[in-house]
Amino acid sequence: MLQSVCILGVTGSIGQSTLKILQQHPEKYSVYAVTAHSRIAELVEICKQFHPKVAVVPAAQVDSLRQLLQQANLADIEILCDEAGLIAVASHPEVDVVMAAIVGAAGLMPTLAAVQAGKRVLLANKEALVMSGDLMMQAARDHGALLLPVDSEHNAIFQCLPQNYFEVERNGQPKLGVQQILLTASGGPFLNHSLEQLHSVTPAQACKHPNWSMGQKISVDSATLMNKGLELIEACHLFAVKEQFVTVVVHPQSIIHSMVQYVDGTTLAQMGNPDMCTPIAHALAWPERLQTHVPPLDLFIHSQLNFQAPDTTRFPALKLARQAMQAGGIAPTLLNAANEIAVASFLQNQLGFTQIPEIVEQTLNHLANRAADSIETILQADQNARAFAQQCVIQTGS
Ligand code: NAD
Ligand code: MG
Repeated sequence: MLQSVCILGVTGSIGQSTLKILQQHPEKYSVYAVTAHSRIAELVEICKQFHPKVAVVPAAQVDSLRQLLQQANLADIEILCDEAGLIAVASHPEVDVVMAAIVGAAGLMPTLAAVQAGKRVLLANKEALVMSGDLMMQAARDHGALLLPVDSEHNAIFQCLPQNYFEVERNGQPKLGVQQILLTASGGPFLNHSLEQLHSVTPAQACKHPNWSMGQKISVDSATLMNKGLELIEACHLFAVKEQFVTVVVHPQSIIHSMVQYVDGTTLAQMGNPDMCTPIAHALAWPERLQTHVPPLDLFIHSQLNFQAPDTTRFPALKLARQAMQAGGIAPTLLNAANEIAVASFLQNQLGFTQIPEIVEQTLNHLANRAADSIETILQADQNARAFAQQCVIQTGS
């Protein structure tokens, strides 16, 4: 039967890769809704090609989208706006699959709405899970949603875990003979930079990842290693383990996407060329497999695979994320919000690269932790951390 897909953040890097897969399998998938925050002309091109029933944009863009769709003879596409529109399409009864590929906290409420509507949710938007952790996971269980990881590392771990892993009770301990999760990290573009060199790196350099082509925010996060910090938190929630069971391994080639170690000495790794189409196709079709254009791995070309421990002196963001996960409560929400502000400021040349983790640390030290017991508490914590981090940025810059 044809599966109806809603793509939140369709104009982004993950959104584009998702379309690439859907385009290859028109007999299996149709596009119900697409959403974008900017780049409306690109959204219109997507509408021409995939003819969704609904498109969602910010209220300020509705008029120009309507005009462009009319010119393209696509006036039948319904236009919705803002967060209410995103939530409406993510939870619409006609939708089977939701690709959560908005970047940052803006994706939280639509992703949660998809989970609460019991959809198959393909989770790229790691920030949403970092912010809402236990609440999101509980909602998935309560509403029978299937939350499948798109992040390449988590998708790899998912593939290396025992098949019945998710049927066993969750208590923070690895189960079914699993001993340790090895979360791989490329190390980003500045893996071999000295601290001195890191002080003066530019946004353009930070956005040039050696192995992956991604949106700006995640590219900067990969360069600071905050991406791995967010992924550590993501792994703890998805796989119901405490942070001490997740070890970060720097593997610069990004061929092994992560590993699971078992008590009998086995280590299972998932490998492949670094292309997000593989984890997207996996999450779309699981437990089946979909053909993609990704070429099979040629180990004679990739004959060197290297591994090293992360350096948290040069890249303190990873340490901060681990501490936030240990602290629990709203600490991961505060970490994420402060990081979003600091990264945006760095991208606008208002902050130095090494000041990003400093802003995050100041925010975590200044704002009191408390239980993340409701979505209101989480949203308030997010707002408070943003306001505080913004103040820190202004003081740092002056
Ligand atoms: P991107 O910046 O390329 O795209 C982001 C998308 O979200 C765009 O469609 C944009 O219009 C939309 N968007 C941005 N701000 C919004 C807002 N305030 N409200 C509604 N929509 C908004 O980002 P990306 O690289 O595609 O990453 C998307 C998510 O997937 C991120 O959470 C990222 O961490 C995660 N992810 C990305 C990759 C990758 O290879 N790109 C890999 C793993 C995980
Ligand atoms: Mg990743």
